[in-house]
Formats: sequence, structure tokens, C-alpha cells
Amino acid sequence: MTRAQPPRPGYTTALVRGLRKRCPRCGEGDIFRGWYTMNESCDRCELEYEAGEGDTWAFMYLSTGGITGLFIVVMLLIRPATMQIGQGVVALAALVLIVGTLPRRKGTAIALDYLTRRARRDAGKS
Ligand SMILES: [Zn+2]
Repeated sequence: MTRAQPPRPGYTTALVRGLRKRCPRCGEGDIFRGWYTMNESCDRCELEYEAGEGDTWAFMYLSTGGITGLFIVVMLLIRPATMQIGQGVVALAALVLIVGTLPRRKGTAIALDYLTRRARRDAGKS
């Protein structure tokens, strides 16, 4: 049985919901059931989170690359007293940030995927 569809969220609302690891369409269902274990769909509105396999990979690669690039710039700007310690601190900080933001980046990627699919569907209707 299909449930009633929630009202369509705006772009910012959907993205904020994804960032908060919530369903981008209804804002109520959890995207994850563990730290990084995803639910296949929203338990409230039945939105399929990853309708196409690999639809969120580009955003995940680009955001990981962006964070890595940021830390490369930091490594070029910081002049630590001991280079090995400086590199170790920057590498550890980068690893913590890349891994620590995984669920929120994935939630944002799912929101972007939802908005893209919705826009494609809308374009097909007109
Ligand atoms: Zn939902």
C-alpha cells in the first residue's frame, strides 16, 4: 500500500534534511540505521534512497577530493617545527574529517540525487 506523498520540499530544505541524515522528501525517516548502515528506503514516505546504483558516487568522490585538496593547501601553508609531526597531524586531521563527515556527505548526496531525479521527472512531464 502506497502512503500519501508528503509536500514537495524546496531545494534548500531537501539539502538540509540530507545533511541532517534525514529523508530529503519528508524529513522524518532516517537515512541510516547505524553509523553508516543505510536504510534502503524511507520508512515514512517510502522514498528509495539510492534508486540507481552509483548515483551518489560522483558527489562522494568530489567531496572527498575537496577535503583532501583543502588539507594539501593547509600542508603548504603551515610550517611546523618538525615536518614529520606536521605532516602526521595534518594527515590525521584529514582522515578524521573525511571519515567523520561520511554520513553527512552521503545524506547530502542522497538529497542531491533525489532533487535530480525529481527535476528529471518534472522535465519529462512538461
Ligand atoms: Zn521520507
